[in-house]
Amino acid sequence: MHKDGLNQSRLLADSLSLSEQKQAVLAAIIAASDDTIISKTLQGIITSWNPAAERMFGYSESETIGKHISIIIPPERIDEEAYIIGQITQGKRVERFETIRVARDGSLIPISLSVSPIKDSNGNVVGASKIARDIRDRHTAYEKQSILAAIVASSDDPIISKTLQGIITSWNPAAERMFGYTEAEAIGKHISLIIPPDRLGEEEVIISNIAGGNKIDHFETKRRTKNGVDIALSVTVSPVTDWSGNIIGASKIIRDISERLNAQEEKARLYEQVKILNDKKDEFIGLASHELKTPLTSISGYLQILSGIITDEKARSFVDKTRQQVKKLGALVSDLLDISKIEAGKLALSVETFNIRQVLDDAIELLSNGNNKYQIQLNTNITSLKVIGDPNRIEQVIINLLTNAIRYSPGSNNILVYLTAEANEVKIGVQDFGVGIEPSKLGEIFSRFYRVDDANPNISGLGIGLYLSHEIVTRHNGRIWAESQPGVGSTFWFTLPL
Ligand code: ADP
Repeated sequence: MHKDGLNQSRLLADSLSLSEQKQAVLAAIIAASDDTIISKTLQGIITSWNPAAERMFGYSESETIGKHISIIIPPERIDEEAYIIGQITQGKRVERFETIRVARDGSLIPISLSVSPIKDSNGNVVGASKIARDIRDRHTAYEKQSILAAIVASSDDPIISKTLQGIITSWNPAAERMFGYTEAEAIGKHISLIIPPDRLGEEEVIISNIAGGNKIDHFETKRRTKNGVDIALSVTVSPVTDWSGNIIGASKIIRDISERLNAQEEKARLYEQVKILNDKKDEFIGLASHELKTPLTSISGYLQILSGIITDEKARSFVDKTRQQVKKLGALVSDLLDISKIEAGKLALSVETFNIRQVLDDAIELLSNGNNKYQIQLNTNITSLKVIGDPNRIEQVIINLLTNAIRYSPGSNNILVYLTAEANEVKIGVQDFGVGIEPSKLGEIFSRFYRVDDANPNISGLGIGLYLSHEIVTRHNGRIWAESQPGVGSTFWFTLPL
């Protein structure tokens, strides 16, 4: 109530009789009220119109007094007036009658009406006084609620709510579809309706979390349908609060994840199968190369004897060529055997202290002997440098890099080798002026069985040399990498710790 109104009523009270005083106080209260207060005759003619009514409907007091109440009643609701007047005529009150009235500017106002009869001194009903309260706020709350209800009803995901005691209080159509129980069958039942017996314990945990105000996100579990089928699903549970913030229940959104789980299981199963096949393949490569090695060694031995006893020059050159090919074959078989050892984690290193310069010289000599065309030039000022590692494996790496440098530079005849020592590592490089490698492939060439597709159709290989080299260098705690430009050439580097 406005202060002015009160002061005014006190002033008036001092100078008037008791009944006059009462009336004056009432008038002041009406004038100051925030609620719309209107009175009218039984014929609907407006007899009073307070400032709040002016504010609500936009008509001033002078514009409405003497007019029919229908100026604020939407045409389609005009019948309500007859009902209200009917009640009033019988001396009854109309309490909180919710309806809609129309303002001067045509806007519709949702209101709650309370109407009381006005009686004359003989007790006859002569009119009605009504208090109207704007319920627009409540209306928007109601609208929000109905939007929510529509969302819940049309959701593809089951949405269920329940009390803290686990009693189901709402059950949407998607829940019906998933679990097979109708809304009527589910509401009022305990949530254990859909919980498999061995998972009943989960409910306690969920409820105690919810009661503590916590949300449960994407809890993966199983729930049982009416037909007894268990469905894998993911549940998100949120607390439901009443107007004062007290937690009174939980609402949960459920998502069927059986398809996802099936896909995951299928993937795991396939992966397992592939792994088994892969292990079998590695085992086979290991066995096969081992079996090949024995006859190769003996062929090689007999060829050596033959070469010693044959006197005919031509025949001996054939034998020597055969020996060379057998040697290549032996190296290939050894590489394959090494691969299966790496896969089985059985590649052993015989570590000792050795002179890296010596190993480099030996490897260069070995390859120079078989290749008159190539000039392999070592650039270094190191004459002797001790490193710790497996000299045979390191030689294998250097031979691999030199062999590649030769194979992948058919149009050139120059290969440069570098040996430098830095603070705590030794660095070895092999440079060719051959076909080179696309920069995007540089990261992949060290993978098992990887070959740069189509790039060098005339150069055959298995794609295992660099993989082995990478393994060996890494096992020595070193690094290996390549720098290259297609058409210009490549340099392969590796380091070994000092
Ligand atoms: P392979 O040479 O038997 O195919 P590697 O593991 O030794 O197997 O080499 C893998 C791939 O890297 C080769 O197929 C080739 O495409 C590329 N590569 C290796 N060395 C060189 C090089 N010096 N120049 C150009 N390409 C090379």
